[in-house]
Amino acid sequence: MIIMDFDDIVGQRVLVESLKNAIKRNMVANAYIFNGPKGSGKKTLADIFARAINCKGSDNKPCNLCSSCKKSIAGVNPDIMYIEPMGNSIKIEQIRKLISDVSVKPFENTYRVIVMKNADSMTIESQDAFLKTLEEPEGNNVFLLLTENYNALLPTIVSRCQVYNMVGLGKDDMKELLVKHGYKQGEELEIAIDNSNGIIGRALEILKDEGFKQLQNEYENILKQILEGSRVETLILSDKLLNSKEDGVKLLSFLLNFFRDILILKDLEDNKYIINKTVDFSLLKSYRDNMTEEELFEIIDNIKQTISSMEFNVSYKNSIDNLFLKILEVFNGKSSRSTV
Ligand SMILES: [Zn+2]
Repeated sequence: MIIMDFDDIVGQRVLVESLKNAIKRNMVANAYIFNGPKGSGKKTLADIFARAINCKGSDNKPCNLCSSCKKSIAGVNPDIMYIEPMGNSIKIEQIRKLISDVSVKPFENTYRVIVMKNADSMTIESQDAFLKTLEEPEGNNVFLLLTENYNALLPTIVSRCQVYNMVGLGKDDMKELLVKHGYKQGEELEIAIDNSNGIIGRALEILKDEGFKQLQNEYENILKQILEGSRVETLILSDKLLNSKEDGVKLLSFLLNFFRDILILKDLEDNKYIINKTVDFSLLKSYRDNMTEEELFEIIDNIKQTISSMEFNVSYKNSIDNLFLKILEVFNGKSSRSTV
């Protein structure tokens, strides 16, 4: 999955416009509730909104380039906090710690954003304590409460929040979103949509088994061939996988995430921040150990260029083959010097 932006949120137009407006007018509220079933995209929306609030760019959406955005993407922004249930509920100790954590000024940004997952699992004791922080808002804290049923919260909490309900998605919106996630139109997609009740997370779960995993393995094989410096094998494998332009888009989005993941691994030795979670971790590490940051940026640039060239459709196969040769060149130019 590519790093998401407000534009990638499908089917929640009213909600998204309202959040963007709040940022534009510098009128971000003290507390929000994003309410909706599991898998409806609350967390994704909260991540984007949190990133946008702290973005140093001038737009009302995250630029994904400034220092704050980069840290948010890597999950290390000190001014974005996440709270989630310990066991079945959010306990009073957690709220006490939260209250003390938010009593100081944000570290690097104007605002501190606190994303509380399953906020409706706060115990009554927790809610009472939490209510006090809402009643006496201390400066620059923005609370994003994610709930499946906000009626489980005290009315006094709800009344201090702006409440947004995630809308269930129609079939077309769902299709658009899944294609953005790299899935191919067809029977498999239809089945997933039909069984998902308009909840994107559910559709993604259905799609995640077999077919998709198999494809990821094939992509990994290509990257292993590159690692071994096998030019012919690499091109044979890529040829086998590319039956349509759509296949190409999918492969490129995988590659983009793959190299972004390696870039993140350069700074953080933790697979928690990896986007392509199914990829063999040792493969990622081999690439990381054999490539410099400059080389990674160079390849990411090349992938992006290939993606945009596909829109004008020269020959997508040629574009992608050229990209692989480029990666081979960058990678093996180096490893043949340092190893063998
Ligand atoms: Zn930014």
